[in-house]
Amino acid sequence: MEFPTLSFYAFNFLHLLYYRHIGDSLLARFCPNCGTEETRERPLIEGLCQTCFTLEYPLLEVPKEIFLEACFNCASYKWKGKWVQPKAVKFNDVLQEAAILAVEKSIKLAKNAKKTRISIEPSFSEIARALRAKAIIPIKVKAYGVIHPAQKIPHEEEFEVDIIIDLVTCPKCSKAARKEYQAILQIRADERKLTDFENKTIKNLVTAEIEKFAKKGDPGAFISELEEKAEGLDFYLGSLHIAKYLVNSIQAKFGGKMKETSRQTGWDRNKGRKLYRTTVSIRLPAFRVKDFFEYRGAIHRIEELDGQKIIGLNLLTREKIFLPWKQIEREKIQLAAKREDVQSALVSAVTPDKLQILDPKTYQPIDVQRPKSLIGIKASKELSILKIDKTIYVVE
Ligand SMILES: [Zn+2]
Ligand SMILES: [Zn+2]
Repeated sequence: MEFPTLSFYAFNFLHLLYYRHIGDSLLARFCPNCGTEETRERPLIEGLCQTCFTLEYPLLEVPKEIFLEACFNCASYKWKGKWVQPKAVKFNDVLQEAAILAVEKSIKLAKNAKKTRISIEPSFSEIARALRAKAIIPIKVKAYGVIHPAQKIPHEEEFEVDIIIDLVTCPKCSKAARKEYQAILQIRADERKLTDFENKTIKNLVTAEIEKFAKKGDPGAFISELEEKAEGLDFYLGSLHIAKYLVNSIQAKFGGKMKETSRQTGWDRNKGRKLYRTTVSIRLPAFRVKDFFEYRGAIHRIEELDGQKIIGLNLLTREKIFLPWKQIEREKIQLAAKREDVQSALVSAVTPDKLQILDPKTYQPIDVQRPKSLIGIKASKELSILKIDKTIYVVE
């Protein structure tokens, strides 16, 4: 049997002493920030506990907001004063690409960072809401890593940064846009001007639809110019297929006749072929809501109208009638009066099936057929009437 030598004991003893000594001195040290005791597993770093160290010396610095510009026409974006052509094709992807690039270039990693993992995650809950407006892309940045060899708790940091992208026309596009339209969308009305309602509704519709195409990344989704003329609206558009799409949407809402004409405007020098510009036009019907037409001997007021039909109200029977545009054309139904022709007049006498009304011009009493639905009418009440030739119709 062999006995351990003295040196072996001595060594072990010393070894033990050494650790006790270190252990004692470790227990004596505290983090000045939070008071945490130092342990062998968690030594202080630069006088701070592991947690306070990660807070004092962050792995990553991330700004709260980053501002960018992007062109909603060609989808290039401006970074550090330069317009960059994006790799992505779809508009949303471009915004994301720009946002990620901006974050990558704006974050600062600590000098001695090791074993780092950084993730940049855009969230698309909010995106460009309107043409020529802003897109705000919130981005989450997560970072993991250490910056000091004694670190037992790695940094796990999370940041939220808003990328605020102004949607603009880049200088190249604004210069080109004035001339480089592909199609004209022309809005007119038959035998009249556009109503304020039609004017406003059509402008809103065109802008909203083009915005949708722009979001899908369509390079032709822009209005190069809008001409407001006495006879109607001319939109100079970046794309023929959008012009065709729009004319169909307008027709579905208001009815009317569509037409397409092309003319040669020059030569495409690059491709060596003729260059055409197409005008897509729509002529809205002369009929408007609240105008009057005669159908089979009875006067009707237009209650509703769309691309397929009009709904008319028989002023006498108060019955509604649906008339498809095809029938209106076939039977050559025409306007009998306009909504501006409605006047108000006084009722002078009432019988069960007749009304007596004072002619608003001559104040002569005139007998009028009483509409069936008109109940509770009394003398001296005012009514909306329509006078066509010598006949008076009660409108309301
Ligand atoms: Zn601490
Ligand atoms: Zn552009």
